[in-house]
Amino acid sequence: MKYWQLSFSVVVVSILLLLSGCVDQEEVLAPKSGETGHLAKTVTGDRYLVGFTNSPDAGIVEGVGGQVTRTFTIVPAVAAQMSPQAADALLKNPNIAYVEPDYEMFAHSQTVPWGIDRVFGDESYSFSTWDISTGNDIGVAILDTGIDEDHEDLKVAGGETTVDDTHWGSDGSGHGTHVAGTVAALDNNLGVVGVAPDVSLYAVKVLSDGGSGTVASVVAGIEWAVDQGIPVLNMSLGGSSDSQTLRDACDAAYAAGHLLVASAGNSGNPGGRGDNVGYPARYESVIAVGSSTQNDTRSSFSSTGPDVELIAPGSSILSTLPGDEYGTYSGTSMASPHVAGVAALAWASNTGLTHSEVRQILRDTAEDLGLSSNHQGYGLARADLAVAAVSGAEPAPDDPTGILAGTVSDAETGSGIQGASVTVDGTDFSATTGSDGSYSIENIPEGSYDVTASADDYVAETKPATISGDETTTLDFALAQEEDDDPDDPVNGELSIDVFDLTDSSNPAWARVTVNWAVSGENLSSVQSELILDGNVIDSQTSSVSGSGASGEHSLRNRNGHGNTYQVKLTVTDTGGNSVSETKEIDL
Ligand code: CA
Repeated sequence: MKYWQLSFSVVVVSILLLLSGCVDQEEVLAPKSGETGHLAKTVTGDRYLVGFTNSPDAGIVEGVGGQVTRTFTIVPAVAAQMSPQAADALLKNPNIAYVEPDYEMFAHSQTVPWGIDRVFGDESYSFSTWDISTGNDIGVAILDTGIDEDHEDLKVAGGETTVDDTHWGSDGSGHGTHVAGTVAALDNNLGVVGVAPDVSLYAVKVLSDGGSGTVASVVAGIEWAVDQGIPVLNMSLGGSSDSQTLRDACDAAYAAGHLLVASAGNSGNPGGRGDNVGYPARYESVIAVGSSTQNDTRSSFSSTGPDVELIAPGSSILSTLPGDEYGTYSGTSMASPHVAGVAALAWASNTGLTHSEVRQILRDTAEDLGLSSNHQGYGLARADLAVAAVSGAEPAPDDPTGILAGTVSDAETGSGIQGASVTVDGTDFSATTGSDGSYSIENIPEGSYDVTASADDYVAETKPATISGDETTTLDFALAQEEDDDPDDPVNGELSIDVFDLTDSSNPAWARVTVNWAVSGENLSSVQSELILDGNVIDSQTSSVSGSGASGEHSLRNRNGHGNTYQVKLTVTDTGGNSVSETKEIDL
């Protein structure tokens, strides 16, 4: 797995080039430097990391018989292979600051790109909005340069090409694969994650591998997506000339109930003056999306004007690239798929909504960044608020609903179990019991259901229930305690936290702490860091580990959370479920 730094500009679209004869190119800005991804590596043999007091000098390492395998630029250090004797010899050199073994590291859980984190508001990965909707089976068509259908972090349901002699599953540009990852990179242990990991992703190749196409190829792509009944179309493309055919095609797709999301364009100026939103974003039937930065400002390239409808993260966006790779791009092309993903999440949580209702919810729940409306439209698209607005919506009056209520208690003692989960199987309805073990779930449509109650250390139980309109159905559960843990489980005392260091890595936007950790034990399973303020978990990160020893680094943060004393809790867990925790305080 590699995270690439792209040092060249990617030419995106000049769809009107062939038609109008005028040169009309838009460029995705080159990414800013300093964006890094987490790398996981396995190290064996006599490998060391060598720090220098000044700049790295490979000759010093080679002078003691070592071999430099990598020279870093972010720190004055090299990675090298050498004997322990050579490492000792190096330590005597005044130009050497330190020599340390190159620890074995295990795969971190995937990186959550900042833009994904941002559109979920205060939620931490794994976002609780995903408990309601992950975009389940909502179709999203990516009209772009194609999508690498073999990418490890993408699942492509199908596609079509409207560019001669090309295939939708091949993306020689990388643009379409990057856009697709922001919508739908899988929530697995790899790479990155998208806004809506469970959508049905379709590749519609309307641009060549060089990143250009024609109005004809784009219109043919819209036509295909509409014929397939794919509800959401993302168009991270555009030009600066109006086209009757393109306008009519967008209007027809919208009239047929499809939601069209497009990048506003990268023709903005630093002052944000003027009306320079491109086409098709400029059409009333299309949601025009501008680009925001990690500081919640408008990206200086982001097109402005009265047609800008929403803004979303678009500067320095990490996502998927062809060949199982990952990289950082900037552009309104990167902002648009955040909105397409939010739309898919909202729509999937109630497929009875119309496209215009989904559009209105995106507007109503957008976060006002305090920018002018020509820059941000209604504001920044918010997945958490949009889905909450949908799932909290009152059911239609002709759709009778009832209430399910009861208690969950301990079968032996009869006392209520607090915090037990009650789920109406096959629906999004669920509840957690209160201190007396009681629960109540409202607005369940009439019908027969299976309902499951579960709680930690208890055996889950499933019972049938029939819900009638305007009535309360009572359903009580009595749960039996689980048997004691398997006696073969590793002993708790064998787990230990060997390194637990906190470093203040705050920046102006975020109070942030870097957690360096090393743990040991038998059959390790996971290591979790939690950032706690006033008893509330603000952020957390979990790494899957295995074997008998592991080390790594976590980064925890709280937006604008400076000037507080935080607790950081580190927990190591083994495969038997045993765990050991340690908590430290840090002022950020
Ligand atoms: Ca992933």
